[in-house]
Amino acid sequence: MLIILRKIMKTGVATKDSFALTPTKKYRGKLTVDGATCTACTVCVTTCPVSAITIDTTENETRLSFDYTKCMYCGLCADVCPENAIIQTNEPKICTKQREQLIETFLITSETGDQNGTDN
Ligand code: SF4
Ligand code: SF4
Repeated sequence: MLIILRKIMKTGVATKDSFALTPTKKYRGKLTVDGATCTACTVCVTTCPVSAITIDTTENETRLSFDYTKCMYCGLCADVCPENAIIQTNEPKICTKQREQLIETFLITSETGDQNGTDN
């Protein structure tokens, strides 16, 4: 008990949960993609300085993924998207111990994106 009290005296006590605070509007948080607008042009993929964006195409679908193990939330991808399909939200960054939860994937549903995703 004494040890705990000594520690509290030394470090203080958190009286507010910092994760419960609402980020400001300008807070650079998670990214989101409008799958109906994205044309899978790959401009964001080639622009991302840390290769955090991938576009995977299978026979049936095209998906755009953000790898938050790499992303540094610079917002360049949203700036360069010619369709304004990427929006950088002020949603707080993900905290997890599970690496796979740091990959976020969006289905591209636009016709152009679908066409890019198939062999003609
Ligand atoms: S999100 Fe924008 S820049 Fe990225 S592939 Fe889609 S249309 Fe192109
Ligand atoms: S915010 Fe920056 S680092 Fe993250 S995916 Fe977009 S361009 Fe890459």
